[in-house]
Amino acid sequence: MRIGIGYDVHRLVPDRKLIIGGVEIPHTLGLLGHSDADVLTHALMDALLGAIGQGDIGQWFPDRDPRYAGIDSLILLEQVMKKVTEAGYRIGNIDGVVIAQRPKLGGYFPEMRSALARVMGCEPERINLKATTEEKLGFTGREEGIEAEVVCLLEEVH
Ligand code: MG
Repeated sequence: MRIGIGYDVHRLVPDRKLIIGGVEIPHTLGLLGHSDADVLTHALMDALLGAIGQGDIGQWFPDRDPRYAGIDSLILLEQVMKKVTEAGYRIGNIDGVVIAQRPKLGGYFPEMRSALARVMGCEPERINLKATTEEKLGFTGREEGIEAEVVCLLEEVH
């Protein structure tokens, strides 16, 4: 088995879509980034790449590369999963937490889990998602940004 950890932060700004875990969430602010800025999917990809010892998403999908401007992060996740499969591993389980003061995210988790599971070719039951606030403290508390942390466990395919 192999374990990986991923962490990401994106800034909240007006006039951007809020996309988390591949799902568009109605909100007054959205996440700023070169891609669709899907903070959870980015942390997930870093966890997967970490588990197979292949660096991070900045290395594979540089934010200066025009090919990735505005790209759907699920497309990038599909490419990362290809690397996982080629390395001889499959998803054991994934556990993720999104840190946001607003909006409330829990109601979107079933949709996020099926969107991520579909791309990763695993059962949604292997993906657990959680949300928390930081009690109005720090940058998430001031609603300046949203943070995500993900750990994954991969199993070797025999
Ligand atoms: Mg990111």
